[in-house]
Amino acid sequence: MPGEDVHISFTNSTKFYDMLVTVQFLGGMSVYLGCHLSVSKGYLAMGKTALSIGADTFQFFTRSPRGGGVKPLDPEDITALAEFAREHHFGPLLAHAPYTLNPCAADEGLRGYALETMQDDLRRLEYLPGSLYNFHPGSHVKQGAEIGIEKIAEHLNRLFETPFSTTVLLETMAGKGSEVGRTFEELRAVIDRVEQGDRLGVCLDTCHVFDAGYDVVSDLDGVLEQFDRILGLERLKAVHINDSKNPMGSHKDRHEVIGGGTIGLDAMVSIITHPSLRHLPFYLETPNELPGYAREIELLRRCAAERIGEEYHG
Ligand SMILES: [Zn+2]
Ligand SMILES: [Zn+2]
Repeated sequence: MPGEDVHISFTNSTKFYDMLVTVQFLGGMSVYLGCHLSVSKGYLAMGKTALSIGADTFQFFTRSPRGGGVKPLDPEDITALAEFAREHHFGPLLAHAPYTLNPCAADEGLRGYALETMQDDLRRLEYLPGSLYNFHPGSHVKQGAEIGIEKIAEHLNRLFETPFSTTVLLETMAGKGSEVGRTFEELRAVIDRVEQGDRLGVCLDTCHVFDAGYDVVSDLDGVLEQFDRILGLERLKAVHINDSKNPMGSHKDRHEVIGGGTIGLDAMVSIITHPSLRHLPFYLETPNELPGYAREIELLRRCAAERIGEEYHG
């Protein structure tokens, strides 16, 4: 993937990297941007759909988000997608675990189910090298966050007994109900209890962090400084780029279309062009069908190119 040498340059020379990014933006190319797609027609079909709407990455559920059945793996189809993504210079593909899993459930059977499902997903993702796997840490229900954190860490320690190559991402949560992961500190506490913590990254959801009380609208730098101090920006591997229907700190988790919510287009553009973030893949999970996603991708790319152009040429 051609993005790779760009990423290496980032560690060596930020200036050179910034220049490359600028060239990419101004050349009509962009950082990696895509949306959530349905796996119902298969893996290669998702790659083709992504390309048709101007995306160069995408996210998908590994199985029905409500849990339950999963199609038998078709290695030919998934390998064809890996090849297609390489050919079209896609960014890392993001697989999302079913959101019904609860790795910190009080019930042992539910925790076992979460573990088996994630093991099976990661086994499948071995066919998609370089992809990422994102999951919701879970809800502690009445056990308290401390116990929740312990159980999530135990879940990950067991998951990592197998040497899968995919990086597993903890998602930042809005703090709806008893969700664990509503603060950067809670995610840090999980990571600290995982023996192979280097196999963990974080996926930042803009709607979730805003709903959790992080002011990405008027203090993006401050939020990123906090993230860096508590979790380390090098752990940030992916961003869910969603507007929010509700005010900051509402703990609601209701996504809105880009520019239609309380975060707003201007802040979205600041996020995707931020020097600490623009090398990352961005995934839309806004309430849209494909034409709506295509419009948002086009809008964000255009606004990002304008913003970067202004930065460099005044
Ligand atoms: Zn999610
Ligand atoms: Zn959400």
